[in-house]
Amino acid sequence: MVQDLKGNIRVYCRIRPIFNDEVKTVIDHIGDDGSLVVVDPLKPQKDKRKIFQFNHVFGPTATQFDVFRETQPLIRSVMDGYNVCIFAYGQTGSGKTHTMCGPACGLANELGINYLAINDLFQLSDERKDIIEYRIQVQMVEIYNEQVRDLLAEDLSAYTNIQSFDFLTTNKLEIRSCASDGGLVLPDATMCPVKSTTDVINLMKLGEGNHAVSSTAINNHSSHSHSVLTIHVHGEDVSGSIVQSCLHLVDLAGSERVDKSEVTDDGLKEAQYINKSLSCLGDVIAALAQKNSHIPYKNSKLTLLLQNTLGGNAKTLMFAHVSPEGDSFGETMSTLKFAQRVSTVEFGAARANKETAEVLELKAQIENLKKALANKQ
Ligand code: ADP
Ligand code: MG
Repeated sequence: MVQDLKGNIRVYCRIRPIFNDEVKTVIDHIGDDGSLVVVDPLKPQKDKRKIFQFNHVFGPTATQFDVFRETQPLIRSVMDGYNVCIFAYGQTGSGKTHTMCGPACGLANELGINYLAINDLFQLSDERKDIIEYRIQVQMVEIYNEQVRDLLAEDLSAYTNIQSFDFLTTNKLEIRSCASDGGLVLPDATMCPVKSTTDVINLMKLGEGNHAVSSTAINNHSSHSHSVLTIHVHGEDVSGSIVQSCLHLVDLAGSERVDKSEVTDDGLKEAQYINKSLSCLGDVIAALAQKNSHIPYKNSKLTLLLQNTLGGNAKTLMFAHVSPEGDSFGETMSTLKFAQRVSTVEFGAARANKETAEVLELKAQIENLKKALANKQ
């Protein structure tokens, strides 16, 4: 299970099923131990096979529930005060949105991690209601061309007839870079209190709708932006002890390299922003692995936004998505190499953001003493 593994970053690989019109597969072997062997269909010789090792590999027959079951302990730890980030990485069409959300209008057994996680958090909150009172709030944003846009802003519904994407970029959010004090990273993004899974599902539909507004303006927009759903948890137990944490659920932009000759100037700009933010994400995790004193969170909006769930006392889970089809071999290799680089990381022991009633009481006393001192001077 996820929490029993050493270190605070896990990398799971998920391989989507092969579609009818796809003939050759790059998958040679999937081991129960997290090993994965891939082969270039154009060079099928044994000595050309590539071997990777992850915390777990989900093959094409794995169900949404199989994936959720392996992730559930990590998700539940949010309720104990751990900051958690789950992100889906991979080329467009590899299954990122399927894992995080499930298919649009999907059946109940196809629901993705977002829905199952939220449902589970409410269930846990209910189980613990006699000893701890939780308050759960949600934010939903996207990062497009290094700009953060609120997907839950009420007035966005007025934009349904939008012709030009420029309109939407007026809704730019600032990220606070020093949120280690427990403050909000995105203080100006709409924060919606939620009381049930249905509340969250309705908000997610609104958010996805707002995401979709822009896809009419720019082809396949959702593959070109990072979408971040954040669940904020605040709990207070009977002794006055506070638990405060957040869970980021991130569906990243497609990681594919773009052929410069095939895109417009806008497309090239998009691709450059995506490359930049994804490579910054890799750099941040590599810097954490090497225990560098400087972690380059500030090099991209994505890493700045996720900073409190990458490194430090947080727990991070990356899903590396790959397509099994032969033509994707190059992209599959680059995803697996990125994921392998990330999976060598072992962060320090995770620590919950929990302040005991005693600590809070002592802090209050210090404040009172400071005031008394100031009054005397
Ligand atoms: P991405 O978000 O990476 O662009 P999608 O999640 O949209 O990719 O997946 C592309 C297509 O493959 C969709 O039609 C999706 O329903 C299907 N798909 C992806 N993963 C799976 C899976 N594990 N099982 C069944 N269908 C899948
Ligand atoms: Mg997608």
